[in-house]
Amino acid sequence: MKIYFQNSLSRKKEEFKPIKKNKVGLYTCGPTVYDYPHIGNLSAYVIWDVLKRFLLSQGYQVKHIMNLTDVGHLVSDADEGEDKIETAKRREKKTAWEVADYFIEVFQKNIAELNILSPTKFLRATDTIKEQIDFAKVLDEKGYLYKTSDGMYFDTSKIADYGRLANLAEVEQQEGARVAKNPEKKNANDFAVWKFSPQNSQRDMEWDSPWGKGFPGWHLECSVMSRMELGDTFDIHTGGVDHMTVHHPNEMAQSEAFTGKLQANYWLHNQHLRYEGGKMSKSAGVFIKLSDLEEKKYSPMSFRYFILQNNYRKPHNFSWQALSAAQAGLKNILRSIAFFDQAKAKASKEFLAEFYTALADDFNTARALSVLQKVLESKLEDKVKLATVLKMDEVLGFDLESLRKRFLDLPEEAKILLKEREVARENKDWARADQLRDKLVAWQVEVQDTSAGQKAIYNWLE
Ligand SMILES: [Zn+2]
Repeated sequence: MKIYFQNSLSRKKEEFKPIKKNKVGLYTCGPTVYDYPHIGNLSAYVIWDVLKRFLLSQGYQVKHIMNLTDVGHLVSDADEGEDKIETAKRREKKTAWEVADYFIEVFQKNIAELNILSPTKFLRATDTIKEQIDFAKVLDEKGYLYKTSDGMYFDTSKIADYGRLANLAEVEQQEGARVAKNPEKKNANDFAVWKFSPQNSQRDMEWDSPWGKGFPGWHLECSVMSRMELGDTFDIHTGGVDHMTVHHPNEMAQSEAFTGKLQANYWLHNQHLRYEGGKMSKSAGVFIKLSDLEEKKYSPMSFRYFILQNNYRKPHNFSWQALSAAQAGLKNILRSIAFFDQAKAKASKEFLAEFYTALADDFNTARALSVLQKVLESKLEDKVKLATVLKMDEVLGFDLESLRKRFLDLPEEAKILLKEREVARENKDWARADQLRDKLVAWQVEVQDTSAGQKAIYNWLE
């Protein structure tokens, strides 16, 4: 099946052609581990998870690398302000190392809760300091770096088409050239490859280097790790749309300066999750964590469903009503398949083809979900419906089989009430049967009376 992606680099939908047959090298910019991830951060990892699962479903072996930024990401992406981990350490009253360890654990727990497949490898920035220094040394030898009082900077004027990813020249013409806050920078877009430790204080994280004690700039780790694990040029690089103007052009510039080659062939960018039309961020006072959803009785899978209802390249507005609607949608799927025959059946080829075709078109998850609905509404045998839906779920990643089992796993008290109700029905005591049905509702158990007797589901997604 031919797969098409909207490539940010060419601004076109292009057919995907991997470098090596049946193999994909995939790099995703990971989190800066200085705080809890908010659901906007997490939504991107859901999106890239579906991309990866789709590639796996088409028989590709996917090597997926994700970095964990535990040093060097300054308060502004454009190298201004303090290291985010250093600010967090004062807030948390911990060392920078403890802060990073803690939030790496939180992030990994969150992505597991969202049923996101773990990357082939996570790499921590602080675990690759030697490799980053070696890489920067080559850039320095090739004449791309210059020294200022606070670090070694990359001279972006030495890259002929710097910023082509975002068409940066055009963006800046529209907005007026970015004013360099650091007067020592030669060009406004120049960025730090190595920052010096401040002279009057000691950082928890700092290393010796040929240029002086300090720490790597944020962009360096992605150039280094992607090359270490995936080679000079790899297939797909993913990240948030905000990376198109600073982080990704900088990564690309370093990698091209080092290897003389393009870092990645396909650059895919997701739009942000918005809240009431605005950006979701702590500074804007909108900071919803995955645990906040769970406290309000939303399943992480309902959030996953909500994300997949949207096209990843379109802005998506989060609201509690929209999340409730997504939870109701997921619940309807589970209700439909709860009692389906477990007997092994073959999935419907026609519906699967339609499903994969939707995803092959720049992984249109919204359309893929509508194909799943069509299966449930179709005239197929129940067991074929179930087999088809579960096959689709390998890509969508709701883990429907275990959610379905939870629907059938009734609380003990409810089982007792159901037995009583069976007796009442045998005795044709309909008033008692209705009374017991109402009692069961309090246990979140819904009863259906069928020709084969009563059937019940535990609606834990209420
Ligand atoms: Zn990156």
